[in-house]
Amino acid sequence: MKTLHTDVAVIGAGSAGMTAYRAAKAAGASTILIEGGHYGTTCARVGCMPSKLLIAAAEAAHDAARTAPFGVHVDGAIRVDGREVMQRVKGERDRFVGFVVEGVEALPAEDRLVGHARFIDDGLLQVGDHTKVHARSIVIATGSTPDMPDMYRALGDRAIVNDDVFAWSDLPRSVAVIGAGVIGLELGQALSRLGVRVSVLGARGRVGPLTDPAIRGYAEKTFAHALHFEPRATVEAATREGNSVHLRYRSDTGALIDDTFDYVLVATGRKPNVAGLGLNHTSLALDERGVPVYDPATLQAGAYPVFIAGDANGILPLLHEAADEGRAAGTNAARFPDVAPLRRRAPLAIAFTDPGIAMVGARHADLAANTFVTGEVSFEDQGRSRVMLRNEGLMHVYVDRTSRRFLGAEWIGPDAEHIAHLLAWALQMNLTVDAMLDMPFYHPVIEEGLRTALRDAAARLR
Ligand SMILES: Cc1cc2nc3c(=O)[nH]c(=O)nc-3n(C[C@H](O)[C@H](O)[C@H](O)COP(=O)(O)OP(=O)(O)OC[C@H]3O[C@@H](n4cnc5c(N)ncnc54)[C@H](O)[C@@H]3O)c2cc1C
Repeated sequence: MKTLHTDVAVIGAGSAGMTAYRAAKAAGASTILIEGGHYGTTCARVGCMPSKLLIAAAEAAHDAARTAPFGVHVDGAIRVDGREVMQRVKGERDRFVGFVVEGVEALPAEDRLVGHARFIDDGLLQVGDHTKVHARSIVIATGSTPDMPDMYRALGDRAIVNDDVFAWSDLPRSVAVIGAGVIGLELGQALSRLGVRVSVLGARGRVGPLTDPAIRGYAEKTFAHALHFEPRATVEAATREGNSVHLRYRSDTGALIDDTFDYVLVATGRKPNVAGLGLNHTSLALDERGVPVYDPATLQAGAYPVFIAGDANGILPLLHEAADEGRAAGTNAARFPDVAPLRRRAPLAIAFTDPGIAMVGARHADLAANTFVTGEVSFEDQGRSRVMLRNEGLMHVYVDRTSRRFLGAEWIGPDAEHIAHLLAWALQMNLTVDAMLDMPFYHPVIEEGLRTALRDAAARLR
């Protein structure tokens, strides 16, 4: 077995691990980047990118099917060729992955190790069965894995997760999506628009990340109208029947429903990849998920030279957060014991559904009652949204009663991904509702809807 000594060892060459590696090197530390799976990152391989490629195909199909109200008739049937859809998804995905792999392979060979890393002591890792790494500091950037409850695991290859969807070479006829979080809604709606018979079965009324009851209620109605969506289903049994899955679930109304699907796509959440890390061989205190107890500001585990970044810490499982956390963890690992808190950007989360769902800043659920006012706009009669026949949506903006500062927003509506950026930037600049209303608004644009919500909030402050 080979033995190496390094200032910093980074476990995982995903989005967090790669920025951690670069930051540690930039801070002058000798650094080793260890990857146990494939190079290419979750985001590019089975996450952000292939899901958006599938959604793009679904939008094309949806747009082709809704031209008639404009007086434009696409005569004849719209044919979705599942093989071609998946070919483009995988072809483009592979291109994106290729760029990432090229980037990693361009790193000095002596800085890279391939193999599963696990702790055998504080500051000592074993990689595969070939190398021991003594590291002054360690960054855990091992990402997360989709949850698979036991009831679905028993279905074998008919119970799938997002990774499996992006390995398909054709679209199936029917899929039950379990879970109405962002991944379940995005994939469920996309597959439905591509002609797959889809049922999205959520639990406890969850609709993506939304916490504002009015917005969540509106979103629930919107998706229930667009596809078979049961936000409060209780799955009582899942059994395999040949190459199909039979589901028995109780719907919101109490009705017992039996249905059969080609696949069950389990999107019930993701858990940090810490199980195989041998953390029990370290002095680190672990929480109930087995994740080292760490400071969310510095990402440091206890008082040890161990930092945890990206999906592995389970706080904000988003690409840009993983990259920011990786950078902070890498810098802190290199400079240990001189560690500094990470400066978080304004909170921003987007679901690429149609209409889009977005959340900026404070969640409604976290705001103290009577400290804020809510401004509202419905996109149903909003000028440009109506022009484009995309007039579905409801937005709430929250403004602090005393300081008049913009605090956050939750909504479902057209162009949510773009408006979300305007709002996140306004929040990060500490703007008041008055300063935001002083900004230019062109006409006619969907952002005028945002202005209506801001004006509504300002009026409530008077
Ligand atoms: C379907 C889907 C859609 C998504 N869409 C979006 C989106 O639109 N926007 C967005 O911001 N985010 C999105 N995300 C989330 C985003 O992809 C993740 O937050 C991000 O990829 C996390 O990066 P990471 O570096 O923490 O993990 P990863 O990229 O998973 O990297 C972890 C790496 O660690 C390696 N590893 C694990 N254990 C070990 C070990 N013991 N030894 C060595 N190596 C190990 C793994 O092989 C892996 O390569 C999506 C996720 C999914 C699943």
